[in-house]
Amino acid sequence: MSARIERLLSELEEPLLVANRTNVFYLTGFRSSNAALLVERQRVRLFTDFRYVEAARDVREVELVQTPRALVPHLAELLQGRIGFEADSITYAEHAALAGGGLDLVARTGVVERLRAVKGEEELEAIRRAAAITDRAYGRLAKEPFLGRTERELAWQMEQIFREEGSDEIAFPIIVATGANGAKPHADPGDRRIEPGQTVVVDAGCTIAGYNSDCTRTFATNGLPDRLREAYAVCLDAQQAGVEAVRAGAEGRAVDSVARDRIDATGFKGMFGHGLGHGVGLEVHERPALRPESADVLAAGNVVTVEPGIYIAGEGGIRIEDLVVVTDDGCQVLSEFTKELVTVD
Ligand code: ZN
Ligand code: ZN
Repeated sequence: MSARIERLLSELEEPLLVANRTNVFYLTGFRSSNAALLVERQRVRLFTDFRYVEAARDVREVELVQTPRALVPHLAELLQGRIGFEADSITYAEHAALAGGGLDLVARTGVVERLRAVKGEEELEAIRRAAAITDRAYGRLAKEPFLGRTERELAWQMEQIFREEGSDEIAFPIIVATGANGAKPHADPGDRRIEPGQTVVVDAGCTIAGYNSDCTRTFATNGLPDRLREAYAVCLDAQQAGVEAVRAGAEGRAVDSVARDRIDATGFKGMFGHGLGHGVGLEVHERPALRPESADVLAAGNVVTVEPGIYIAGEGGIRIEDLVVVTDDGCQVLSEFTKELVTVD
Protein backbone atom coordinates (compact mmCIF):
# COMPACT_ATOMS: atom_id res chain seq x y z
CA MET A 1 0.00 0.00 0.00
CA SER A 2 1.12 3.56 -0.65
CA ALA A 3 2.66 5.59 2.15
CA ARG A 4 -0.36 7.89 2.21
CA ILE A 5 -2.80 4.98 2.57
CA GLU A 6 -0.59 3.46 5.29
CA ARG A 7 -0.63 6.74 7.19
CA LEU A 8 -4.41 6.96 6.82
CA LEU A 9 -4.86 3.38 8.09
CA SER A 10 -2.96 4.23 11.26
CA GLU A 11 -5.61 6.89 12.00
CA LEU A 12 -8.67 4.70 11.42
CA GLU A 13 -10.87 2.92 13.94
CA GLU A 14 -13.10 1.38 11.26
CA PRO A 15 -12.99 1.22 7.44
CA LEU A 16 -13.34 4.72 5.93
CA LEU A 17 -15.43 5.56 2.89
CA VAL A 18 -13.58 8.42 1.16
CA ALA A 19 -15.99 10.25 -1.15
CA ASN A 20 -14.35 13.71 -1.28
CA ARG A 21 -12.82 13.78 -4.75
CA THR A 22 -9.76 15.80 -3.68
CA ASN A 23 -9.10 13.21 -0.98
CA VAL A 24 -9.47 10.39 -3.54
CA PHE A 25 -6.91 12.18 -5.73
CA TYR A 26 -4.55 12.70 -2.79
CA LEU A 27 -4.66 9.02 -1.82
CA THR A 28 -4.53 7.43 -5.29
CA GLY A 29 -3.51 10.05 -7.88
CA PHE A 30 -6.84 9.31 -9.60
CA ARG A 31 -8.82 12.33 -10.77
CA SER A 32 -12.54 11.86 -11.35
CA SER A 33 -15.80 13.69 -10.76
CA ASN A 34 -17.37 10.45 -9.53
CA ALA A 35 -15.23 8.10 -7.46
CA ALA A 36 -14.97 6.83 -3.91
CA LEU A 37 -12.54 4.68 -1.96
CA LEU A 38 -13.18 2.21 0.82
CA VAL A 39 -9.98 2.02 2.83
CA GLU A 40 -9.63 -0.95 5.16
CA ARG A 41 -6.69 -2.97 6.50
CA GLN A 42 -6.98 -5.91 4.12
CA ARG A 43 -7.66 -4.01 0.91
CA VAL A 44 -8.56 -0.71 -0.74
CA ARG A 45 -11.48 -0.65 -3.15
CA LEU A 46 -11.88 2.11 -5.75
CA PHE A 47 -15.42 2.67 -7.00
CA THR A 48 -16.14 4.65 -10.16
CA ASP A 49 -18.55 4.59 -13.10
CA PHE A 50 -18.12 3.62 -16.76
CA ARG A 51 -16.82 7.04 -17.84
CA TYR A 52 -13.71 6.70 -15.66
CA VAL A 53 -13.22 2.98 -15.37
CA GLU A 54 -10.62 2.75 -18.16
CA ALA A 55 -8.47 5.46 -16.58
CA ALA A 56 -8.92 3.84 -13.16
CA ARG A 57 -7.20 0.64 -14.35
CA ASP A 58 -3.89 2.51 -14.07
CA VAL A 59 -4.34 3.06 -10.33
CA ARG A 60 -2.07 0.67 -8.47
CA GLU A 61 -2.75 -1.30 -5.30
CA VAL A 62 -6.53 -0.93 -5.39
CA GLU A 63 -9.35 -3.28 -6.35
CA LEU A 64 -11.41 -1.57 -9.02
CA VAL A 65 -15.20 -1.83 -8.82
CA GLN A 66 -17.42 -0.37 -11.55
CA THR A 67 -20.67 1.12 -10.27
CA PRO A 68 -23.67 2.87 -11.79
CA ARG A 69 -23.47 6.65 -12.00
CA ALA A 70 -25.42 6.98 -8.73
CA LEU A 71 -22.33 5.66 -6.97
CA VAL A 72 -22.85 6.19 -3.25
CA PRO A 73 -26.44 4.85 -3.09
CA HIS A 74 -25.22 1.72 -4.92
CA LEU A 75 -22.63 1.10 -2.19
CA ALA A 76 -25.51 0.21 0.14
CA GLU A 77 -25.74 -3.02 -1.83
CA LEU A 78 -21.99 -3.76 -1.84
CA LEU A 79 -20.90 -2.96 1.73
CA GLN A 80 -21.78 -4.25 5.17
CA GLY A 81 -21.01 -3.55 8.79
CA ARG A 82 -19.50 -0.55 10.53
CA ILE A 83 -18.09 2.10 8.17
CA GLY A 84 -16.80 5.61 8.74
CA PHE A 85 -17.91 8.25 6.23
CA GLU A 86 -16.77 11.81 5.52
CA ALA A 87 -19.48 13.91 7.09
CA ASP A 88 -18.43 16.98 5.09
CA SER A 89 -18.84 15.19 1.73
CA ILE A 90 -21.73 12.74 1.93
CA THR A 91 -25.10 14.37 1.24
CA TYR A 92 -28.16 13.81 3.39
CA ALA A 93 -29.77 11.76 0.59
CA GLU A 94 -26.65 9.59 0.18
CA HIS A 95 -26.52 9.01 3.92
CA ALA A 96 -30.17 7.95 3.91
CA ALA A 97 -29.49 5.47 1.10
CA LEU A 98 -26.48 3.96 2.91
CA ALA A 99 -28.31 3.75 6.23
CA GLY A 100 -31.31 2.22 4.45
CA GLY A 101 -29.02 -0.59 3.30
CA GLY A 102 -28.31 -1.52 6.90
CA LEU A 103 -24.77 -0.07 7.25
CA ASP A 104 -23.63 1.03 10.69
CA LEU A 105 -22.38 4.52 9.80
CA VAL A 106 -19.88 6.57 11.83
CA ALA A 107 -19.48 10.26 10.96
CA ARG A 108 -15.83 11.35 10.64
CA THR A 109 -14.49 14.78 9.74
CA GLY A 110 -11.11 15.93 8.52
CA VAL A 111 -9.32 12.58 8.67
CA VAL A 112 -7.68 12.79 5.22
CA GLU A 113 -7.61 16.60 5.37
CA ARG A 114 -5.35 16.44 8.46
CA LEU A 115 -2.89 14.27 6.52
CA ARG A 116 -3.06 16.63 3.54
CA ALA A 117 -2.15 19.58 5.76
CA VAL A 118 1.45 18.34 6.12
CA LYS A 119 3.10 18.52 2.73
CA GLY A 120 5.83 16.27 1.42
CA GLU A 121 8.81 17.47 -0.60
CA GLU A 122 7.15 16.86 -3.98
CA GLU A 123 4.06 18.77 -2.94
CA LEU A 124 6.17 21.66 -1.66
CA GLU A 125 8.04 21.72 -4.95
CA ALA A 126 4.79 22.19 -6.91
CA ILE A 127 3.63 24.95 -4.53
CA ARG A 128 7.02 26.70 -4.79
CA ARG A 129 6.75 26.66 -8.58
CA ALA A 130 3.21 28.07 -8.43
CA ALA A 131 4.37 30.79 -6.01
CA ALA A 132 7.32 31.71 -8.24
CA ILE A 133 5.03 32.10 -11.26
CA THR A 134 2.75 34.25 -9.11
CA ASP A 135 5.68 36.54 -8.21
CA ARG A 136 6.55 36.96 -11.88
CA ALA A 137 2.90 37.66 -12.70
CA TYR A 138 2.73 40.46 -10.10
CA GLY A 139 5.99 41.87 -11.46
CA ARG A 140 4.51 42.08 -14.95
CA LEU A 141 1.14 43.39 -13.78
CA ALA A 142 2.81 46.24 -11.86
CA LYS A 143 4.27 47.52 -15.16
CA GLU A 144 0.85 47.63 -16.82
CA PRO A 145 -1.18 50.84 -17.02
CA PHE A 146 -3.86 50.86 -14.29
CA LEU A 147 -5.48 54.31 -14.56
CA GLY A 148 -8.68 54.36 -16.61
CA ARG A 149 -8.87 50.59 -16.95
CA THR A 150 -11.63 48.53 -15.38
CA GLU A 151 -11.18 45.93 -12.65
CA ARG A 152 -12.39 43.31 -15.10
CA GLU A 153 -9.79 44.27 -17.74
CA LEU A 154 -6.94 44.04 -15.25
CA ALA A 155 -8.19 40.69 -13.90
CA TRP A 156 -8.23 39.30 -17.45
CA GLN A 157 -4.74 40.71 -18.09
CA MET A 158 -3.49 38.95 -14.95
CA GLU A 159 -5.11 35.69 -16.05
CA GLN A 160 -3.36 35.88 -19.42
CA ILE A 161 -0.03 36.59 -17.73
CA PHE A 162 -0.46 33.50 -15.56
CA ARG A 163 -0.98 31.35 -18.65
CA GLU A 164 2.00 32.90 -20.43
CA GLU A 165 4.21 32.26 -17.40
CA GLY A 166 3.43 28.55 -17.52
CA SER A 167 0.68 27.90 -14.98
CA ASP A 168 -1.74 25.03 -15.63
CA GLU A 169 -4.70 27.21 -14.66
CA ILE A 170 -5.65 29.99 -12.28
CA ALA A 171 -6.32 28.83 -8.74
CA PHE A 172 -9.54 30.87 -8.27
CA PRO A 173 -11.29 33.79 -9.98
CA ILE A 174 -8.84 36.70 -9.72
CA ILE A 175 -9.94 39.61 -7.52
CA VAL A 176 -9.18 43.16 -8.63
CA ALA A 177 -10.97 45.67 -6.41
CA THR A 178 -10.45 49.42 -6.57
CA GLY A 179 -11.77 52.35 -4.57
CA ALA A 180 -14.77 51.58 -2.37
CA ASN A 181 -14.97 48.10 -3.91
CA GLY A 182 -11.67 47.29 -2.18
CA ALA A 183 -13.49 47.48 1.16
CA LYS A 184 -15.21 44.20 0.26
CA PRO A 185 -12.72 41.37 0.93
CA HIS A 186 -14.17 39.10 -1.77
CA ALA A 187 -15.26 41.68 -4.32
CA ASP A 188 -16.10 40.57 -7.86
CA PRO A 189 -14.17 42.53 -10.50
CA GLY A 190 -16.62 44.75 -12.34
CA ASP A 191 -16.74 47.71 -14.71
CA ARG A 192 -15.46 50.18 -12.11
CA ARG A 193 -12.58 52.20 -13.59
CA ILE A 194 -9.36 52.76 -11.66
CA GLU A 195 -8.95 56.44 -10.73
CA PRO A 196 -6.26 58.56 -9.06
CA GLY A 197 -6.11 58.43 -5.27
CA GLN A 198 -7.23 54.82 -4.88
CA THR A 199 -5.92 51.52 -3.61
CA VAL A 200 -6.23 48.52 -5.93
CA VAL A 201 -6.40 45.13 -4.20
CA VAL A 202 -5.26 42.23 -6.41
CA ASP A 203 -5.71 38.67 -5.05
CA ALA A 204 -4.53 35.91 -7.36
CA GLY A 205 -2.92 32.50 -7.55
CA CYS A 206 -2.24 29.67 -9.98
CA THR A 207 -2.11 25.90 -10.10
CA ILE A 208 0.81 23.59 -10.88
CA ALA A 209 0.27 19.81 -10.89
CA GLY A 210 -2.90 20.26 -8.84
CA TYR A 211 -1.27 22.47 -6.19
CA ASN A 212 -2.22 26.11 -5.69
CA SER A 213 -0.62 29.41 -4.78
CA ASP A 214 -2.40 32.39 -3.22
CA CYS A 215 -1.07 35.95 -2.98
CA THR A 216 -2.53 39.42 -2.48
CA ARG A 217 -0.87 42.76 -3.10
CA THR A 218 -2.42 46.20 -2.80
CA PHE A 219 -1.27 48.86 -5.26
CA ALA A 220 -1.83 52.62 -5.08
CA THR A 221 -2.54 55.22 -7.74
CA ASN A 222 -1.16 58.76 -7.52
CA GLY A 223 -2.57 61.04 -4.86
CA LEU A 224 -3.47 58.35 -2.33
CA PRO A 225 -5.20 59.95 0.73
CA ASP A 226 -3.11 59.93 3.92
CA ARG A 227 -5.64 57.72 5.72
CA LEU A 228 -5.24 54.91 3.15
CA ARG A 229 -1.44 55.34 3.22
CA GLU A 230 -1.54 55.02 7.00
CA ALA A 231 -3.83 51.97 6.79
CA TYR A 232 -1.32 50.36 4.42
CA ALA A 233 1.51 50.88 6.90
CA VAL A 234 -0.57 49.39 9.75
CA CYS A 235 -1.60 46.39 7.61
CA LEU A 236 2.01 45.74 6.58
CA ASP A 237 3.16 45.91 10.21
CA ALA A 238 0.44 43.41 11.20
CA GLN A 239 1.34 41.16 8.27
CA GLN A 240 5.03 41.08 9.21
CA ALA A 241 4.16 40.41 12.88
CA GLY A 242 1.93 37.53 11.75
CA VAL A 243 4.69 36.02 9.59
CA GLU A 244 7.12 36.23 12.51
CA ALA A 245 4.65 34.39 14.77
CA VAL A 246 4.35 31.38 12.43
CA ARG A 247 6.27 28.30 13.58
CA ALA A 248 5.61 24.63 14.28
CA GLY A 249 3.75 24.28 17.57
CA ALA A 250 2.07 27.72 17.39
CA GLU A 251 -1.72 27.74 17.72
CA GLY A 252 -3.67 29.06 14.74
CA ARG A 253 -5.64 31.38 16.99
CA ALA A 254 -2.49 32.75 18.65
CA VAL A 255 -0.86 33.65 15.32
CA ASP A 256 -4.12 35.35 14.29
CA SER A 257 -4.21 37.44 17.43
CA VAL A 258 -0.60 38.61 17.06
CA ALA A 259 -1.54 40.30 13.77
CA ARG A 260 -5.04 41.33 14.82
CA ASP A 261 -3.79 43.05 17.97
CA ARG A 262 -1.50 45.28 15.88
CA ILE A 263 -4.48 46.55 13.87
CA ASP A 264 -6.80 46.77 16.87
CA ALA A 265 -4.25 48.94 18.70
CA THR A 266 -4.76 51.66 16.06
CA GLY A 267 -7.62 53.81 14.80
CA PHE A 268 -8.40 50.96 12.37
CA LYS A 269 -9.64 48.74 15.21
CA GLY A 270 -12.34 46.33 14.08
CA MET A 271 -11.72 46.88 10.35
CA PHE A 272 -9.98 43.49 9.91
CA GLY A 273 -13.04 41.24 9.90
CA HIS A 274 -11.80 37.90 8.53
CA GLY A 275 -9.31 35.26 9.61
CA LEU A 276 -5.56 35.85 9.25
CA GLY A 277 -4.93 32.89 6.99
CA HIS A 278 -5.64 29.38 5.77
CA GLY A 279 -3.85 26.29 4.57
CA VAL A 280 -3.18 25.95 0.83
CA GLY A 281 -2.54 22.80 -1.18
CA LEU A 282 -4.75 20.77 -3.51
CA GLU A 283 -7.46 23.21 -2.43
CA VAL A 284 -7.04 26.96 -2.07
CA HIS A 285 -8.66 26.85 1.36
CA GLU A 286 -7.75 23.87 3.51
CA ARG A 287 -6.29 23.08 6.91
CA PRO A 288 -4.89 24.50 9.10
CA ALA A 289 -6.82 27.70 9.86
CA LEU A 290 -5.35 30.87 11.36
CA ARG A 291 -8.36 32.60 12.85
CA PRO A 292 -9.79 33.46 16.28
CA GLU A 293 -11.88 30.29 16.60
CA SER A 294 -9.25 27.88 15.18
CA ALA A 295 -8.29 24.82 17.24
CA ASP A 296 -5.45 23.94 14.82
CA VAL A 297 -1.81 23.79 15.90
CA LEU A 298 0.78 24.46 13.19
CA ALA A 299 3.17 21.68 12.15
CA ALA A 300 6.32 21.70 10.03
CA GLY A 301 5.29 21.15 6.41
CA ASN A 302 2.03 23.12 6.65
CA VAL A 303 1.60 25.72 3.92
CA VAL A 304 -0.46 28.71 5.08
CA THR A 305 -1.29 32.25 4.06
CA VAL A 306 -0.80 35.31 6.27
CA GLU A 307 -3.23 37.93 5.01
CA PRO A 308 -4.49 40.69 7.25
CA GLY A 309 -6.61 43.41 5.69
CA ILE A 310 -8.09 46.77 6.59
CA TYR A 311 -11.44 47.57 5.02
CA ILE A 312 -12.77 51.12 5.26
CA ALA A 313 -16.35 51.21 4.03
CA GLY A 314 -16.89 53.75 1.26
CA GLU A 315 -13.16 54.60 1.00
CA GLY A 316 -11.10 51.58 0.11
CA GLY A 317 -9.38 48.44 1.25
CA ILE A 318 -5.96 47.00 1.83
CA ARG A 319 -4.88 43.37 2.06
CA ILE A 320 -1.38 41.94 1.99
CA GLU A 321 -1.06 38.16 1.66
CA ASP A 322 2.01 35.94 1.64
CA LEU A 323 2.19 32.18 1.23
CA VAL A 324 4.57 30.55 3.75
CA VAL A 325 5.87 27.08 4.60
CA VAL A 326 5.87 26.32 8.34
CA THR A 327 9.22 25.09 9.70
CA ASP A 328 10.35 23.98 13.17
CA ASP A 329 11.74 27.38 14.07
CA GLY A 330 9.68 29.75 11.94
CA CYS A 331 8.62 29.81 8.33
CA GLN A 332 9.87 30.23 4.81
CA VAL A 333 8.07 32.95 2.84
CA LEU A 334 7.32 31.89 -0.74
CA SER A 335 5.80 35.20 -1.95
CA GLU A 336 8.72 37.37 -2.99
CA PHE A 337 7.03 40.27 -4.80
CA THR A 338 7.66 43.46 -2.80
CA LYS A 339 5.33 44.43 0.05
CA GLU A 340 6.36 48.08 -0.09
CA LEU A 341 3.49 50.22 -1.37
CA VAL A 342 3.89 50.29 -5.17
CA THR A 343 2.35 53.26 -6.99
CA VAL A 344 1.09 52.31 -10.43
CA ASP A 345 0.33 54.57 -13.39
ZN1 ZN B 1 -5.78 35.23 -1.67
ZN1 ZN C 1 -5.98 33.50 0.86
